[in-house]
Amino acid sequence: MKHRIIFATGNAGKMKEIRLILEDLGCPVLSMKEAQADPEIVENGVTFGENAEIKARAVWACTGDIVLADDSGLVVDYIGGEPGIYSARYLGEDTSYDIKNQNIIDRLAGAEGEQRSARFVCNIAAVLPDGRVLHTEAAMEGLIAEKPAGNGGFGYDPILYLPEFGKTSAELTIEEKNKISHRGKALEAMKAQLKKVLEEEF
Ligand code: IMP
Repeated sequence: MKHRIIFATGNAGKMKEIRLILEDLGCPVLSMKEAQADPEIVENGVTFGENAEIKARAVWACTGDIVLADDSGLVVDYIGGEPGIYSARYLGEDTSYDIKNQNIIDRLAGAEGEQRSARFVCNIAAVLPDGRVLHTEAAMEGLIAEKPAGNGGFGYDPILYLPEFGKTSAELTIEEKNKISHRGKALEAMKAQLKKVLEEEF
């Protein structure tokens, strides 16, 4: 039996990246909009994993397909892991990333070298048609830059400096970023798990 994979996101950019990675599983990959699932989702978990699972379960309750959802954010060690699961809401949902990024740099005044360690984290949850849940999590490690750099990507990309590239995440091409990003790696790991599950055919 051919299963549908629904990804619980409204973000078109994410859907494009997700389709590219998951297409060789041989299942149609749909956004929640395409699957006509629009449940009310209250993201009140306290970890990336809990929030990813809340989103996936809400859409699964509408469709019963294989439903995937991700939750991600920036974790900065020097400030106790902030903004973490609150990355999108940090300083207010409508506040520009120029302001959010400068604020984080300001809060790291005096921090040097490894004290500036930070990472993007992404957790992906999958709810299977029989209700089983799978999770994968991956990170992209770096240091908070002294000043923002680069125009690529989105969000906090201009302030995550990647020492092995000698540039920020916003200075990578999309292809470079997808290969090493938290989301790309978590998605590849999820794809491997789904492949096994599909072979077992529940
Ligand atoms: P969500 O998982 O789509 O809710 O994203 C959470 C938030 O984390 C985003 O709004 C960004 O602020 C931040 N974030 C997640 N991934 C990235 C990334 O790859 N680059 C920059 N910011 C990111």
